[in-house]
Amino acid sequence: MIKVIFWPIIGLLTVLGMVLNMAHAAQLAIVIDDFGYRQHNEMAIINLSDNITVAVLPNATHAQQIATYAHEHGNEVIIHLPMAPMGKQPLEKDTLFPDMSQTEIDRIVTDAVNKVPYAIGVNNHMGSLMTASLSGMDKVMLTLSQYDFFFLDSRTINTSKVPQAAATYHMPVLSRNIFLDDSMKEADIAAQFELAINFARKHGHAIAIGHPYPATVNVLTQKLAQLPADITLVKLSQLLPLPLSLPHSLPQPTPQPTLGDILGGLKTDSAALFAEWFIQAQSLDKY
Ligand SMILES: [Zn+2]
Repeated sequence: MIKVIFWPIIGLLTVLGMVLNMAHAAQLAIVIDDFGYRQHNEMAIINLSDNITVAVLPNATHAQQIATYAHEHGNEVIIHLPMAPMGKQPLEKDTLFPDMSQTEIDRIVTDAVNKVPYAIGVNNHMGSLMTASLSGMDKVMLTLSQYDFFFLDSRTINTSKVPQAAATYHMPVLSRNIFLDDSMKEADIAAQFELAINFARKHGHAIAIGHPYPATVNVLTQKLAQLPADITLVKLSQLLPLPLSLPHSLPQPTPQPTLGDILGGLKTDSAALFAEWFIQAQSLDKY
């Protein structure tokens, strides 16, 4: 008799536990940048999960094909808009500079929209120079405001003016929290993935950005197969602020990991190394 009652109760409690766990699950969004050049790796990323968002470079060789493939697989597509970095490095065609005219920026953005079908938003490729310029980003947001887009600030620089410029045009804004593959070593990428999970647990959600590198594909394959039960992989648009029902509500800056967050879980001998990494990470144009 006791057994007859015991097992259904255990079953009920397990289901209840799962439901409660899901209700409290932290949300993790993963965006993979620089799509359009490495079809094999990019298709592997897309096939991992339809919740991974892909950011397509408009002038990449396979931009249109990979955007279409991603969309048909159920993945969200955003335009990875090339923006000027501070340092000297090879630039994509039609990289946006702060001193370009509104007409020039209109032409480049419109061309990008035409080359990346199914895009629902935009994020910046590089951009430590461009996104730090309020007048430059003002021109970009004016053009983008013609479309029903949101903007994901890749935050390649701490002084990004994306939130201010977007607010002027009521453009919804998201902000990258963690870079996954600044180092291309699998162990480092795995550590960054764990950092993203801990960030999500602390703040309720996290946005991680990576690249279609073979090492990143390997780490994501392993990590997504054993995602902790309290973490849900979500589409990027699921993290958007609710529709702006309040006329003067402005996008709030997303908290960024502090040095304390990162060092908190580390042994002291790794701390100095990570401190150095964190300082370098403040201006990252690899993205
Ligand atoms: Zn990029």
